[in-house]
Amino acid sequence: MNTTSPPLLDAAGLKQLATTRDEASAVTPCPCRLQAATAWESITEERWPEALMQRVGTLRDPELHEPTFEEWHPAGTRYDSPDAPISVAHFPYNRCDVYRCASCTRLVLRYTEFGGYYVDHRVRVVDPALITG
Ligand SMILES: [Zn+2]
Repeated sequence: MNTTSPPLLDAAGLKQLATTRDEASAVTPCPCRLQAATAWESITEERWPEALMQRVGTLRDPELHEPTFEEWHPAGTRYDSPDAPISVAHFPYNRCDVYRCASCTRLVLRYTEFGGYYVDHRVRVVDPALITG
């Protein structure tokens, strides 16, 4: 098990990772089945394609004790809008780890919501055009 912490990414770093996809060799449809997860899908531990996912970074600043819950929707989008902007300083991106699918090379964000009696893994594939800041 690799215990070294992944690099902290800013918007530029995330964008760079998201745009360096090897689409030519990408498998379609990909066995990760995350292509359609454009709007913070709830994904159970069983559905998360662990074997394909490589953690390449994080957006969670370890120096920040309590990252903000404020969201960023200047164009009137909502939390679960497929076209909501990806702002690394805002919720929920400021809690995300960044993964790359080994098969389709898509970049995927994941964070975990902790409720009273449950944990909920939320996943969104990264569209580089939506990254702001
Ligand atoms: Zn994939």
